[in-house]
Amino acid sequence: MSGFGRVALIGIGLINGSLARVLRREGAAREIVACARRRATLDRALELGLCDRATTDPLEAVRGADLVVLGTPPAAVVPAAAAIAAGLADHAIVTDVGSIKAEIVRGMQGVLPGPDRFVGGHPVAGTEHSGPDAAFDTLFVKRRCILTPTGTTDADAVATVRRLWELTGAQVDLMTPEHHDKVLAITSHLPHLIAYTIVGTVADLEDREKTDVFKYAAGGFTDFTRIAGSDPTMWRDVFLQNKEAVLEMLGRFSEDLSALQRNIRYGEGDALFDLFTRTRAIRRGVVEAGQAYVRQADDPLADEP
Ligand code: NAP
Repeated sequence: MSGFGRVALIGIGLINGSLARVLRREGAAREIVACARRRATLDRALELGLCDRATTDPLEAVRGADLVVLGTPPAAVVPAAAAIAAGLADHAIVTDVGSIKAEIVRGMQGVLPGPDRFVGGHPVAGTEHSGPDAAFDTLFVKRRCILTPTGTTDADAVATVRRLWELTGAQVDLMTPEHHDKVLAITSHLPHLIAYTIVGTVADLEDREKTDVFKYAAGGFTDFTRIAGSDPTMWRDVFLQNKEAVLEMLGRFSEDLSALQRNIRYGEGDALFDLFTRTRAIRRGVVEAGQAYVRQADDPLADEP
């Protein structure tokens, strides 16, 4: 089968909405059925042409589906799987797009009738915007999508989900859920935590200082506000569900921050210069790996959360 048959999208926001746009553009789904809690979300998805049918009933959404993509906030992924379990066809393949993987992959064991046909997934692409209106079909182009099959995951299911993401223009990598969570803790979760801290500190400043901050916000602070403007539900879930890896990275970060504090206090310019030279080389590595984009008004490629 070259297409994906009937596709059920549970949650139809930025990520599943963008996936829907790709499926539409490529004519790769016989039918797209969307499911969300609120009728308003579904009406908007229908208006935008993201789906053929829409329902608030998870069982109805997955009836006869060949492929199901769970695109709710992270903590709602396993409950959403539990809500669709009784309606799944035997051959249905289930995947998700949650930003954390170990807890989700573990959770599926207990709730899905065919857990081996579940493939954990995380497209490492996104913006700070949410909901069906935020979706666009080039979101995943040249970005990574990580799949986290376990030792018992069905090989055909992995191949189908890989094909789905390759269709979006993403490059697919496979790794264990635990490794995913460690890598993302440092590349994504810690930077978000730092942005939340810095922007939170500004929020606590005296009014007069705050006004100046907004007036003179240079690139650095503006970038932090963009990251800190990300969806609060999703990020609350990420930190609570990837607690161990985040706390480990935060421990290391705190030590490095203390060292930097000491360097500044004692005027250790050479140490600062050495660190900034090393970090500049890392930036070059990121650019060379094709993972840095210059944001322009007409360029939908955005930095990933
Ligand atoms: P989003 O735009 O907020 O969309 C979430 C969708 O799920 C909405 O349609 C929402 O509609 C529905 N929903 C919310 N809570 C639900 C629940 N308890 N049960 C059923 N449906 C529910 O979110 P998103 O940015 O697409 O993120 C979705 C997933 O992708 C998350 O797991 C996130 O970790 C992951 N992800 C996000 C990004 C990013 O940049 N945002 C990047 C990579 C991966 P209703 O509110 O009407 O139910």
